[in-house]
Amino acid sequence: MQPDSSSRFLMANADIRGYMLQLNKTYADSLSATDYPRPIRILLGEFLAAAALLSETIKFKGRLLLQVKGLEKITLLAAEASSERSLRCVARFQDLTDDDAPDFEALLGTGTLVVTIEPEQGERYQSLVPLTAPSLAQCLEFYFGQSDQLGTQIMLHSDGETATGFLLQQLPAQLETDDAKRSDHWQHFSILAATLTQAEQIALPEATLLKRLFVEDVVELFPPKAHRFACTCSRERMANALIALGEAELQSLLAEQPELTLNCEFCGAQYALDGEAIAAEARGDRPAH
Ligand SMILES: [Zn+2]
Repeated sequence: MQPDSSSRFLMANADIRGYMLQLNKTYADSLSATDYPRPIRILLGEFLAAAALLSETIKFKGRLLLQVKGLEKITLLAAEASSERSLRCVARFQDLTDDDAPDFEALLGTGTLVVTIEPEQGERYQSLVPLTAPSLAQCLEFYFGQSDQLGTQIMLHSDGETATGFLLQQLPAQLETDDAKRSDHWQHFSILAATLTQAEQIALPEATLLKRLFVEDVVELFPPKAHRFACTCSRERMANALIALGEAELQSLLAEQPELTLNCEFCGAQYALDGEAIAAEARGDRPAH
């Protein structure tokens, strides 16, 4: 399929929709700020693909964040997607090298995924997903199963260079209201979808892929949407984060480092901040003219 894009599709004769996604440059750009070891690169690829797919399934304007924190070797793993289809990610880790296996269960299995949806207008909301299944995709299927009772099938693959995602989801009854027939439809399509390999998804054009998977079915395919890496950091946001520390902590930080230089962990951008001006702002002083 087309790199750095996602495509939506809809079954013509069943209440089922789907999305397929492939990230290449977006994935590389999202990792470029930090020299991550292979297991982290692979997990971040899955997280990026998952964030992008999930944000496609919900109608909103804002950002969606997937985040796991506080584990033994991975202290932070996060990927963010915006409704404008920009993506970014970050990880903090220890004792991991290229030689370690990207083992989801071993590295993240005791954690909880926090899914945050932050609309531009209105309240943000969070869901907690225990990472007890053997893969991120299965954990997210459980999350969907809990929240809306509609079947969801998710496949995620990442090899450090290409990240792909495929999502199939039941829609509320519209074309078919009989429960048994709805269930038959779901069985039919989800069994076929499960045969898709990452190699096929990368190699085949979207329309060919759908024809090959769902050979007897009519599927409507929508034009691809482009995804890209972009960071939302700014000098102002960095300054606000410092001010949010509170005056006491800010003062002790300034005593150590009068010239504050902060790096954005997502993109590597460096911000040299005027510590005195920020301290004055934190005290509520008016800016000097
Ligand atoms: Zn940034």
